[in-house]
Amino acid sequence: MNAPGEMARAAIRQRHAEVVAIRRAIHRHPELGYEEHETANLVRRVLKEHGIQAEAGVLPTSVIGRLGQGSPCIALRADMDGLTLQEVNQVEYCSEVKGVMHACGHDAHVAMLLGAAMALVDMGFRPQGSVLLLFQPAEESPKSGAQPLIDSGLLTTNKVDEIYALHLWPSLPKGLLGFREGPLLASSDGLKIVVHGVGGHCGEPHNAVDAIAVAAHIVVALQSLVARQTDPLKPIVLHIGTVAGGSRRSIVASSVVMTGTVRALDEQARVRVLKQSRQLTTQIAEGFGGSVEFEVDPTQPVTVNNIGCARRLASVADQPIELPAPVLVAEDFGRYLRQVPGAMGLLGCGEEGLSRGLHTATFDFDEDVLAVGTEILVKLVLDFFSAEMQPARLVGTSR
Ligand SMILES: [Zn+2]
Ligand SMILES: [Zn+2]
Repeated sequence: MNAPGEMARAAIRQRHAEVVAIRRAIHRHPELGYEEHETANLVRRVLKEHGIQAEAGVLPTSVIGRLGQGSPCIALRADMDGLTLQEVNQVEYCSEVKGVMHACGHDAHVAMLLGAAMALVDMGFRPQGSVLLLFQPAEESPKSGAQPLIDSGLLTTNKVDEIYALHLWPSLPKGLLGFREGPLLASSDGLKIVVHGVGGHCGEPHNAVDAIAVAAHIVVALQSLVARQTDPLKPIVLHIGTVAGGSRRSIVASSVVMTGTVRALDEQARVRVLKQSRQLTTQIAEGFGGSVEFEVDPTQPVTVNNIGCARRLASVADQPIELPAPVLVAEDFGRYLRQVPGAMGLLGCGEEGLSRGLHTATFDFDEDVLAVGTEILVKLVLDFFSAEMQPARLVGTSR
């Protein structure tokens, strides 16, 4: 980028220490989903200090900041919640809340979005339209914080044209921006399978229905279902994570409860494997004289980046890298992308020799990455408004 790019960089440099301080303040006081009261207060305070409008939002802990007004409208989203993990890092800004930690980088996401807002204000940026700053609660929660915001009509009332988010990504080297056109992250569905048999004495198996034996057949059959009944070019993970049943070695177990998850990168493949799993599980249980309850908890859809938006994201990054394949983790940002075009970028924060994975008690990152992410967000906004004046620059913006 040219002159506006240089101005952005200078403004971000000026604010870097403040962005780091914000990240550390949030890191010290992590809050779980729907409890992000202090984090939301901090966000409101910073926005107010810089003369940025902040609306209460739909949820007690959501904050919607706004620059400018009307159309066109670009939205930038940061999630705010921490995780139930005890931090083991020995750093000055360590979590002060026992058993809760920002181990997914959401402290960084908030800090970078606030940094971008401050830099835009410092640059004297006046959009011919609006920039929505979405500070969203409860990304980690099965009851996604994105959904109530979407259901409130936020995207439609504001006529959001495009939406973007960054996520810190330790498996990419520090400073790189991983992008992808199309599916980026997987869907996630929770499974609960309850097998009902008939209890009895182990010496008289013919008078009982062994729920453990039935459950074992179901586990093996579900893996065969993935191997033999799904398109190998559309990856699926069907994972059984817990199996619980039985009370004593000489008793035939009357029931078994199993939980698991299904991850997919294609919506049709996802629906199909869930339907087939239910059928197969039911038939196996009935075949042995038992029955089954099969519950699906649809947690997150596939995160599908719009092609034009993914290209815009890559075009504003200094070090974009096209990811060869999607990643089978899930994010609730995919919910926004079902409504409006947009893209999520994965911001590299990995360093050779350091094992600091997401959702681990050792997660941390070099805070220089905050400046890289802030700059990408600022440049997305600048590029969006300049492209609005020259629509031909956008490629493939179909939803
Ligand atoms: Zn996470
Ligand atoms: Zn996350």
